[in-house]
Amino acid sequence: MSLGIIVAMEEELEVILESMKKDKTEVRANMEFHIGKISGKNVIAVICGIGKVNSAVCAQILISEYNVKSVINLGIAGGIGKDVVPGDIVIGDSLVQHDMDATAFGDPVGQIPRLDTFDFKADSNLVDLAKEACKSIEDHNFYVGVIATGDQFVADLDKIKWLSDKFNALACEMEGASIAQACYLNNIPFVVIRSISDNANTGAHMDFEKFKYLAVENGSQILKEMISKL
Ligand code: SAH
Repeated sequence: MSLGIIVAMEEELEVILESMKKDKTEVRANMEFHIGKISGKNVIAVICGIGKVNSAVCAQILISEYNVKSVINLGIAGGIGKDVVPGDIVIGDSLVQHDMDATAFGDPVGQIPRLDTFDFKADSNLVDLAKEACKSIEDHNFYVGVIATGDQFVADLDKIKWLSDKFNALACEMEGASIAQACYLNNIPFVVIRSISDNANTGAHMDFEKFKYLAVENGSQILKEMISKL
């Protein structure tokens, strides 16, 4: 059984493919599933595209068609709070969808109505492995906590304050919690690991371009460390 690796963008996959011995590539739902080995371990790496629908579809294909034993979502994210800065890593041990809003019915924001959980918990073994792997990243801190996902590039101080107040989130991005939900529904262990590319404030889109490659490098190093210990 393989490990599924999901990233949102081409830039995020390039460095991962460099360390992969690829056997073949298959296309499903317009997404390329790269099947091969990293450090002798079977992996399937795929770019899902941006946003919650793309990422959920992708996770379900990895699970249903490729029978993956676990899923790692790697990528970049906006940091929340003054301490979480570009280059740092946030390991999501709890994932929430900040744009799910049925508050008109009295549900807390983020709660998916009629679902038996508020957040999606990452697998504790994968979180521990990620923590261990983060120690190999010099000059940057890593944090473990809530990652908030929504179909929104957050570039607004009020919004990040809201994400912090409502969810205690350390990072925001656009795919993690929907992958987490797909894994939850199928009972598949997962972890979301995000390298910070910007501070989700005004100018986030410029920082995003500036720090993207640093963040991507950090992410791929963590992945390699993790896979070597799997
Ligand atoms: N036009 C840009 C859009 C990128 S969307 C492009 O095509 O390059 C941002 C991507 O990076 C998403 O995959 C998201 O998960 C992550 N991300 C980084 N910083 C973010 C932020 N501040 N808010 C939301 N997502 C962010």
